[in-house]
Amino acid sequence: MNLYSTKNKDNVADLKKAVMKGLPDDNGLYMPFSIPSLPQDFINNLSDYSFQEIGIKVCKSLFGDYIPTTDLEDILNTALQFPAPVVQLDEQKYILELFHGPSLAFKDFGARFMAQLMGYFNRKEEDKLVILVATSGDTGGAVAAGFYQTPGIEVVILYPSGKVSLLQEKQLTTLGHNITALEVDGTFDDCQALVKKAFLDPELNTNIRLSSANSINIARLIPQSFYYFEAFKQLSKEGDPVVFCVPSGNFGNLTAGLLAQKMGLPIHHFIAATNKNDVVPAYLDSGKYLPRASERTLSNAMDVGNPSNFARMVDIYKAFEAVDSPVESAWGDMKDAISGYAYSDSSTESAVLEVNKKYNYTIDPHGAVGYLALNEYQKSNPNTRGIILETAHPSKFLDDMERILGHNIEVPERLAVLKDREKVAHFMENSYADFRSWLLQNY
Ligand SMILES: *Cc1c(COP(=O)(O)O)cnc(C)c1O
Repeated sequence: MNLYSTKNKDNVADLKKAVMKGLPDDNGLYMPFSIPSLPQDFINNLSDYSFQEIGIKVCKSLFGDYIPTTDLEDILNTALQFPAPVVQLDEQKYILELFHGPSLAFKDFGARFMAQLMGYFNRKEEDKLVILVATSGDTGGAVAAGFYQTPGIEVVILYPSGKVSLLQEKQLTTLGHNITALEVDGTFDDCQALVKKAFLDPELNTNIRLSSANSINIARLIPQSFYYFEAFKQLSKEGDPVVFCVPSGNFGNLTAGLLAQKMGLPIHHFIAATNKNDVVPAYLDSGKYLPRASERTLSNAMDVGNPSNFARMVDIYKAFEAVDSPVESAWGDMKDAISGYAYSDSSTESAVLEVNKKYNYTIDPHGAVGYLALNEYQKSNPNTRGIILETAHPSKFLDDMERILGHNIEVPERLAVLKDREKVAHFMENSYADFRSWLLQNY
């Protein structure tokens, strides 16, 4: 399987290189050369396949013979150990719950699959691979859980002291084994700068095999396409066309949906739902892409001002030859395929309440943004069935949820137990010299 950089089709990598490197050196994003359609017979009979089997089919189609089938089966059976159930709200509205993994958000799917693939590609190396991750909270939790006990891989997570929530911190600091937390006396940006510096340090890189668990790694995107098939399978075959509504920040989830559609899943339309960080809905509206600094909102995992996967979306829609102005050339087809809507925090709070009253369902603020967008879309497109991606469990936003609803909500056991686990973290000044010598001493 070969991939190219969205910045330059001649900058090519095979799957192993793309996964282990994460980003091409020209700062583009890796995309597969070929996204083959799956057999019609498979699409028509999805209900004959388990979630894991769907993942295997998709991977085999994308990867070809690059990874032997038995190895692929091991990877998928280990990676996909939690379900993605669809819950029906009414005849037209469905929720795809993506929060049944260890960190209670959809990022668990990508992190676990990437960990399995990296472990597989690394299996014949004698030296350990050390993954460095800077986190402002959520990504670190998914990466920690995803890589936990992956043979041959050590994970070092840098997080800003005092700037992540108690439960987020516990997700990073209580696993042990191959997961080590560094509590940095600084901000998230300081943590990220330390990691970047380490990657650029030639001497460090000759002593330690370093890699990243970057959110734009193609290995995080691919498994996110599996659950579009899995959701489709759970709806009755007869009925109105199916649209997916995707609460979006960096647009990884939505891009994965576009891949599923390219692979032949008959998705009628996409809805991109954002908070007031609305650069993509604004682009769909006007054809102009104007990234800007992000603003803080209630649905904070979507506070992104320059979505990293936008380059992949453009790549999917741009006319192949129109390389001079890809963003303009992609617009026509993209706006036909995707409708964009953006909402304020106060509308989002009303939506959380409405979903609770009307359907007795507790939706988190990110899903609530999706609910608003689906409602609006279905006003002018009534004969559709809409699936909202519920990207995180509401208890991850406990204080806001309980304030909005005015009552306590259920906290899943796997999150609740963390409160009493002992935090183990190595405290560090915001100093590259300290970070460097700590790495050299420990790995
Ligand atoms: C990361 C995240 C998002 C945004 O997903 P993208 O794929 O970056 O668009 C939405 N909701 C939650 C809860 C998230 O953690």
